[in-house]
Amino acid sequence: VKEIRNAGLFQKTMARLRRQGKTVGLVPTMGALHEGHLSLVKAAGRENDVVVVSIFVNPFQFGPSEDLKKYPRPLARDRRLLEAVGADYLFRPEPEQMYPQDFSSYIETGVADSLRGAKSPLAGLTGVLCGRSRPGHFRGVATVVTKLFNLAKPHRAYFGAKDYQQSVIVRRLIRDLNFDIELRVLPTVREEDGLAMSSRNRYLSAADRLRAVVIPQTLLWVHRQLSSGERNVNRIKKMAKAKLRSKVTAIDYFEIVDPETLQPLEKIQLHMQVVTACFIGKTRLIDNVRIHLHG
Ligand code: AMP
Repeated sequence: VKEIRNAGLFQKTMARLRRQGKTVGLVPTMGALHEGHLSLVKAAGRENDVVVVSIFVNPFQFGPSEDLKKYPRPLARDRRLLEAVGADYLFRPEPEQMYPQDFSSYIETGVADSLRGAKSPLAGLTGVLCGRSRPGHFRGVATVVTKLFNLAKPHRAYFGAKDYQQSVIVRRLIRDLNFDIELRVLPTVREEDGLAMSSRNRYLSAADRLRAVVIPQTLLWVHRQLSSGERNVNRIKKMAKAKLRSKVTAIDYFEIVDPETLQPLEKIQLHMQVVTACFIGKTRLIDNVRIHLHG
């Protein structure tokens, strides 16, 4: 893996590859890599000539009381893993490379939020779910993703379905700002017991790790309920929350939403996304599952 730490050099290197007619696949990450990340890197390798992974713990997407400082940074291990799956470039900038002192331009994906008020049912993509409990988070995400897109100008960009709301917002960003990039969203990779892989799972104590499995189990239960003909969304939500509450420290949100607008559903429909964020101790975990009803 060729590591580049300078943004200007990274941009030049990527431009050269493009001129040589190579297709570029970009996988943005915050490091502490696991099989979820690696599945994106492998897909990028199958679909592009050159695979570029970025590792950047983006300060602007963390709230003041969040885990920016203690976010894991096992760099040597990350490099080994990237080597093993055949990534070509690692872009690993210092924050100052991405955000000089007088940095002052941001990408806002939720303008509708400020017009309508974040509590409105029309609060857009960023005023709901994770955006509601992490104000400014998706503005940080959209800004850094835009910067990475402009630096790498990739042909394809790879994201995980695990961060479902993020994938919807990036899709909207690409459409709204006319990025000529194919968005690839790949399935959530899970541990054997079903827990979605996450860099934050390492915060969990052994006891908390066992409790965490209630999250995928509850999503699976909702999936079964809806697939086997249960139609009362509110009843399902109530029962699902009770299941979660028996194990987790707190439920941040649990919703059944429209997969495109992210607005909560009152009634079942053909396509639904079940999304949740829960605290286990101080660790906030998210997960989601898609549901298609047929016939
Ligand atoms: P992060 O390093 O947490 O910012 O994640 C970087 C990318 O990896 C994002 O697109 C995530 O959605 C994706 N990702 C994280 N965990 C998983 C997982 N368990 N399965 C698939 N993709 C994942």
